[in-house]
Amino acid sequence: MASRARTGAAEGRGPVRTCIGCRRTGPPEALVRVVALPDGSLATGRGLGGRGAWLCAGSPACFEAAARRGAFSRALGRQVDPESVGALRALLGGGHGDAGGVRG
Ligand SMILES: [Zn+2]
Repeated sequence: MASRARTGAAEGRGPVRTCIGCRRTGPPEALVRVVALPDGSLATGRGLGGRGAWLCAGSPACFEAAARRGAFSRALGRQVDPESVGALRALLGGGHGDAGGVRG
């Protein structure tokens, strides 16, 4: 396999976003934008200003992966409290009680 170290222009046209959970890229319509509000809580929405983190829409697995790695803090450039992450989980509708509940 050849090494593909190209960043930026992926295949095709238009902007591409990278999911902080699975690192896959896709058009903005396929991902959810997460931003940190001034009070430290997280919200979703493309119209919000500031740095944004992107997650695959409707993919709890990506959210969990990002949460476990602390990817929100890194992507948003600020510390994100676990409570805020939990609130975002509820916001995204992560009502699925998958196995593997690790308390942290
Ligand atoms: Zn993803």
